[in-house]
Amino acid sequence: MPFSPFGLASYFSKALAAAGYTEPTAIQRAAIPMILQGADVLGIAKTGSGKTAAFVLPILQGLQGAPLSRHRQPRVLVLVPTRELADQVSQVFQSFIPCLSAGISCRAVYGGVSMNTQMQALGRVDVLVATPGRLLDLIDKNAVRLSEVQTLVLDEADKLLNLGFEEEVNRLLRLLPRQRQSLLFSATLNDDISQMQGLILKQPKILQIDEVG
Ligand code: ADP
Ligand code: MG
Repeated sequence: MPFSPFGLASYFSKALAAAGYTEPTAIQRAAIPMILQGADVLGIAKTGSGKTAAFVLPILQGLQGAPLSRHRQPRVLVLVPTRELADQVSQVFQSFIPCLSAGISCRAVYGGVSMNTQMQALGRVDVLVATPGRLLDLIDKNAVRLSEVQTLVLDEADKLLNLGFEEEVNRLLRLLPRQRQSLLFSATLNDDISQMQGLILKQPKILQIDEVG
């Protein structure tokens, strides 16, 4: 399998083929081994370069070996700036979850829809993809706790900052365990992203990819 030199398990091969992923993109080649090793990662690569699968695949592989958390609170939290992105990212998780033997679940929560439906869906969740404001509301209502999060992803971090989510993200950071793996992905690197990564990531591997493929 073209992905296996980068440490990815062979149980993904059918789903990768079904998705039309014949070989990993540059950011996937760089990020997958680092994430599998447990490193914090700052991944900078253009829109369309395959950043989603660069974190989804190694995160799922990590969950495959790990026991389910006792209370089925999220072990992976992905913060995204928009509802559309929340759906997209959770669809990528959903497409690879059937590769795993462990019964892993992924949910997306975001504003603009009823809280009640989302609260019920949060009964048992391993991977939570969320926009920051709605997640804070759900935490206030005791619908979810972040104390079991082992992996944090900030996806499209540049957009999270542009849309003014910095304060919400900071509030969420204070609710997360200090010992965790943190991954930050962005299409662009600027002073604000540098400052944010300094607060969130510990000794990160900095992966900056200029090519698209
Ligand atoms: P980004 O987050 O970097 O903007 P996405 O993760 O949304 O990019 O991926 C962009 C497109 O590329 C999606 O349609 C995705 O399915 C596709 N893609 C991702 N990885 C691969 C791959 N290894 N081979 C082929 N297509 C891929
Ligand atoms: Mg993306």
